[in-house]
Amino acid sequence: MTTSRELPKVAVLSLGGTIASTNEGASGAADGVTPQLDADDLVAAVPQLRRFADIETTAFRQIPSGDLTLTDLVALAGEIDRRFEAGAVGVVVTQGTDTMEETSFALDLLVRAERPVVVTGAMRNPTLAGADGPANLLAAVQVAASPDAVGLGTLVVANDEIHAARFVRKTHSSSPATFRSPTAGPLGWIIEGRPRIVLRVARLKGVPSGAHSMVPAVALLTAVLGDDARLLATLEGLGYAGLIIEAFGGGHVPAVIMPALADVASRLPVVLASRTGSGEVLRDTYGFPGSERDMLERGLISAGFLDGPKSRILLSLLLSDGLDRSEVRRAFELVNSSVSSFGD
Ligand code: ASP
Repeated sequence: MTTSRELPKVAVLSLGGTIASTNEGASGAADGVTPQLDADDLVAAVPQLRRFADIETTAFRQIPSGDLTLTDLVALAGEIDRRFEAGAVGVVVTQGTDTMEETSFALDLLVRAERPVVVTGAMRNPTLAGADGPANLLAAVQVAASPDAVGLGTLVVANDEIHAARFVRKTHSSSPATFRSPTAGPLGWIIEGRPRIVLRVARLKGVPSGAHSMVPAVALLTAVLGDDARLLATLEGLGYAGLIIEAFGGGHVPAVIMPALADVASRLPVVLASRTGSGEVLRDTYGFPGSERDMLERGLISAGFLDGPKSRILLSLLLSDGLDRSEVRRAFELVNSSVSSFGD
């Protein structure tokens, strides 16, 4: 029988979300569930955790994940660094699933340690039959305690799958199998309590410093059929410091918006992503006005494999470092190069 002294130390930080949501204390189920459980409660509900790790808990926030800000995430990254300095071999973050694809990527960019950061949550709250929070928390701790998860950056663990933060997306409004990595697939899975990591990713390069808690506003606009340029014209007046344009397909917008888009791109960093949610933005295929070639020639920065929300996280954090447009472009290139370069 192992004693808790011999177990790896894993820190669990709770932020709220469905995994923590009940209607206890509210006047009744009709009021709906709200985040009320903290890391202590979540850990206490899964006695099996004690077989895998020596757990320490921190209640970091208690909110729906849509209320988190980038400033919260810069603070969270600092707290995670402190947990590692205090001897944790891995950190688990529990939070809402709604924004997990963004928060996990922010942590991927901000946390410097090689040790695993694993983000998890739940789609079925604890009052429902088949609540998935306990199983997800157990799997997340098993991954965070695993030496195999070292050096992979931030991971999302849910539904017994292990995903890299840079690729993962929430793809379904209610299914426990919501998390997918459409471009690359999952890195692995958990079987009988054992993490099985079958694909590895390199650490990200070109990442922001994370030293600044003031994060400039970056807008995200999605191209749609019949789009005109009226929102584009308002951006600078509203104080946005940058823009992500989620374009059609491989990176196309209606020709009619190109003059306004090029005008904004002459002053602000404007990043070209695809609204498809999978694959990379093209570079050199189409030649019509509003094509990817047209936009890149007119100064837009390619998001590469990053989708719109993840591009917005990266651009926001780069701008908080005070980077100019050419430095932002270089950082996007470096982040993209890190998916295919190992060992350096
Ligand atoms: N609204 C919840 C959130 O905080 C949804 C969830 O956790 O799945 O993101």
